[in-house]
Amino acid sequence: MKKILLTTTSYQDTPGEHHDLLESQGFEIVRERGPLDEERMLELAGDFDAFLCGDDAITARVIEKSLPRLQLISKYGIGLDKVDVEFATAKGIPVTFCPGVNHTTVAEHTFALLLAHCRNLCEEVNHTRKGEWTRLTGNEIMGKTLSIIGFGRIGKEVAVRAKAFGMEVKAYDPYWDEAFAESLGVSRANSLDDALGDAEVLSLHLNLSESTRNLINGESLKRVKDGAILLNCARGELVDTQAMVEALASGKLKGYGSDVLDQEPPPPDHPLLSAPGALITPHIGSRTYESVVRQATMATRNLINVLNGEPALAQANELPGE
Ligand code: NAD
Repeated sequence: MKKILLTTTSYQDTPGEHHDLLESQGFEIVRERGPLDEERMLELAGDFDAFLCGDDAITARVIEKSLPRLQLISKYGIGLDKVDVEFATAKGIPVTFCPGVNHTTVAEHTFALLLAHCRNLCEEVNHTRKGEWTRLTGNEIMGKTLSIIGFGRIGKEVAVRAKAFGMEVKAYDPYWDEAFAESLGVSRANSLDDALGDAEVLSLHLNLSESTRNLINGESLKRVKDGAILLNCARGELVDTQAMVEALASGKLKGYGSDVLDQEPPPPDHPLLSAPGALITPHIGSRTYESVVRQATMATRNLINVLNGEPALAQANELPGE
């Protein structure tokens, strides 16, 4: 009997067809509450035919210890920055993932953060809950310039929504989809500096890699317009935490709306939790009833297909002979 390690909590906690699909296969399923760190993954590794994982630390050591039994890493979601894909590929292990099923949900969350910031939503709700009628003046987003860094699936959905709000949109991505940009009236930033330069709102939608880690740091923040708002529904490690704390404290940035942090879950004294102008949500950008079912069903289908010797719906690595 195939043994599967299931770690993603949104998969486990959300009702939907994915549960029946997984149960129908007769697998032995071991459930853990992820994201698991490397230490816990190392304790578990070696005993499973497949991982159905979220943002657990699937490092080279974990993969090495999982062999020879491990046949597949099925990532629930899109970001593969916690999986050592290169090492998995070298060991002949397919890594599957779920592109194209959560982009609308993450784009909606990006606007939840932006509008909450511009209209002082959390602060005002806290006031009225306490019986206070303290009326703060906000800002509208119509006519403001939004710079999108990473113009992939989510970045494009953010652009669609920004245009509907009447924003000016520019984007930066080394891979440029001119037809899409032209159809929507999105202008192309020629460089990261160009993207950072004249926007009132910046939104990160690129992947985390060694070259993009701390992309937003003390130096790059100098090029951002004073009083801008930065949104991050991608990965916490794209932003240098200390530099962000300083930018918020000095007023260089008016706000940081982020769904992600460099440590998840963060320690209670993580400096961004209490920084002025920081609105942090606990990595719920793709966590809607609609998106979770789509994502979980795709991750489960990827798992079943590969274990049955069939192609996955989406595989992130190419293995020799495939
Ligand atoms: P995607 O692969 O479709 O798009 C990412 C884009 O970033 C690509 O077009 C790529 O060319 C671009 N890019 C890479 N390096 C860049 C750089 N240095 N500068 C500018 N652009 C660069 O991925 P997606 O589905 O749009 O997801 C984007 C990211 O969002 C994921 O990698 C993941 O980390 C994150 N994400 C977060 C949540 C959440 O719950 N908050 C959910 C899903 C995805």
